[in-house]
Amino acid sequence: KPEHVRTYRVALLGVPGVGKNALVNQFMTSECINVYERSQSTEDSSLDISLNVVVNGIECELVFTIVSSAKMDAGASDCWTQAPPDAFLLQYSVTDKGSWERLEHLLARLQSRDLLRNRAAILVGNKTDLVRSRAVSDADGKGLASSYHTKFVEISVACNHNVDELLVGLVNQIRLHEGAA
Ligand code: GDP
Repeated sequence: KPEHVRTYRVALLGVPGVGKNALVNQFMTSECINVYERSQSTEDSSLDISLNVVVNGIECELVFTIVSSAKMDAGASDCWTQAPPDAFLLQYSVTDKGSWERLEHLLARLQSRDLLRNRAAILVGNKTDLVRSRAVSDADGKGLASSYHTKFVEISVACNHNVDELLVGLVNQIRLHEGAA
């Protein structure tokens, strides 16, 4: 891998079923993707997936760790105080109020451990295509994001809506915070 390509670690969090695996799979089809490396299971049974992305003409490597729901529970964020990721993607489904509520608790815990300051964090509401099953409003999402000063986006992985924008926004957010933490 070339010297100049920076590597960023992204923790992708959310309860089962919100579309975390679907999202990373959709990222792989993006025009920004240069190289997709094989995923690797890590020691703690979470999954690491590596993508090389070109944003604003500059390539970087994103290593996504899809965090299992067990790890999201009590004590989960403790491991990050040692080696925090460069970004948090916090994903819920707009059809599942419980998935949104879990992120409310998680955000509180991340903030109490000072893990959100000077770090890219994006709250992601997925499955906007399921209009009639919507249980979390756009305003709920925006409100939660603004109380923790995170970015916010609603997406539909199924319709490939806002997925590229999220990928580009993620890289831009990481670069904005780079060296600031
Ligand atoms: P994970 O457990 O968070 O990794 O969730 P998955 O990626 O396995 O997705 C769970 C289910 O939701 C699968 O059946 C997906 O096909 C479905 N799904 C994911 N994203 C969307 C979406 O944007 N819209 C709809 N309708 N279904 C989705």
